[in-house]
Amino acid sequence: MSGLQCQKKLYLNAYFKKYKDPISENQQAVFDRGHRVGKLAQQIFLGGVDASAGMGYNFQKIVERTQQLIQQGENIIYEAAFQHDQILVIFDILVRTTKGFVAYEVKSSTKLSQTHIYDASIQYYVAQKCGIKIYDIAILHINTAYIRKGTLNLKKLFKAEKIKKQVLENQEFVEQKIDEFKQVLLGGLLPQIDIGPHCTSPYTCDFKGYCHAHIPKLSVFNIAGLAAEKKWQLYNKNILSLKDVPEQFDLNDKQRQQINCSIEQRTELNKEQLSKFLSTLNLPLFFIDFETFAPAIPLYDNTSPYKAVVFQYSLHILRSAEAELEHKEFIAKPDGKDPRIDFTKQIIQDCETQGDLIVYNIGFERSKLQELAELYPEKKQELNALIKRMKDLMIPFQKRWYYDHKMNGSHSIKNVLPALVPELSYKNLEIQEGQTASNKYLDLQLGIRKNTDETMNALSEYCKLDTLAMVKIYEVLNNLT
Ligand code: SF4
Repeated sequence: MSGLQCQKKLYLNAYFKKYKDPISENQQAVFDRGHRVGKLAQQIFLGGVDASAGMGYNFQKIVERTQQLIQQGENIIYEAAFQHDQILVIFDILVRTTKGFVAYEVKSSTKLSQTHIYDASIQYYVAQKCGIKIYDIAILHINTAYIRKGTLNLKKLFKAEKIKKQVLENQEFVEQKIDEFKQVLLGGLLPQIDIGPHCTSPYTCDFKGYCHAHIPKLSVFNIAGLAAEKKWQLYNKNILSLKDVPEQFDLNDKQRQQINCSIEQRTELNKEQLSKFLSTLNLPLFFIDFETFAPAIPLYDNTSPYKAVVFQYSLHILRSAEAELEHKEFIAKPDGKDPRIDFTKQIIQDCETQGDLIVYNIGFERSKLQELAELYPEKKQELNALIKRMKDLMIPFQKRWYYDHKMNGSHSIKNVLPALVPELSYKNLEIQEGQTASNKYLDLQLGIRKNTDETMNALSEYCKLDTLAMVKIYEVLNNLT
């Protein structure tokens, strides 16, 4: 699969693993999630035997054990491994039927992809060469249309897509690629392949740090909103630095502004528009930010796979320019219960009935309150009243009424904050961005993470900084006008 993405990746993977980018906490969370989903899918086919049990990474032993299990007449085998001509494959689930085996590959993704089909094609190829009759082959992926009601219904949570036809069509291609890749691996030379769109498709390559080392920290790849195709056009003309982007290159006004401000290291301010915006904000101001987590396997009734569930908010209240800033927060106890009703009750209480709710990127917070209003009709009126009071602090940056070259073309709060309030930083926090917060909270809810108090504190600190950042940004904007 590496070779299909890039032959250099294949070679590096085989001989220079040391150049791999370190696995981030968030990537690890994705791997762990895949593992959990794989284990759960096994329960659809109960009573099977795990060929890899107790074998660790000793794949030769797993291959032998698989053969033994087949010969013994086992009907369901998990992690069934086969090897032919130095190619090792492992099926997640193999089920014996009267017509032959049916192989299932479990994916935590939400739809079938071409990568899954290639993956299954190689597995099928090797199994056939080992004399195993695969009658059918299917991808079991997560079905986002499933809504949990009561006990988890695994047959509805997973969707099986039969792909034998496509797999059969790929067999010649697989054979060709195996020959080609073996030559690459035995060639003794690192393939000379330049970076390109293949570095992120179908996956972000884990050798990016190694291959992209010559790209400056601020380059044409940072031009906000520029299509990848155009970025590669510039790269292919050997244009890396923003200052080298030709005047006639097709860019929109915001992109041109980003480049000009970056070259001249300056800021731009539309005082009139900014003043107008600020004058629409009504005190007291409730600066609020939500955190959500989105488990692949829905934990609560009326949730779907990967559905973002609110579990936390931070709220800073500014009653007047002179008043002391107040802070309130909600973090649901990770006790396995659905956090949404307590979240709803407390937010209604904490946000009172007067003044604007200031959020950053209104679409997210508004949609979450709308979902809660649907879920709890008895709270609909109060939640709708909160929605009506929402104002978006991102607008001045999105509209570029204020732009600082340090924002690098982005209006995300993570880029705006260091430009406007450099003394306030996420850098010293244990949790520095939302995805990590989600992952850590999910681990707490699943009972994987034991240091509950420490993690709850880290979550609190992180979300608190998000709303404090909004307050400070608001103050800077006020001073500018
Ligand atoms: S970063 Fe790009 S060029 Fe380098 S190995 Fe990966 S896909 Fe190939």
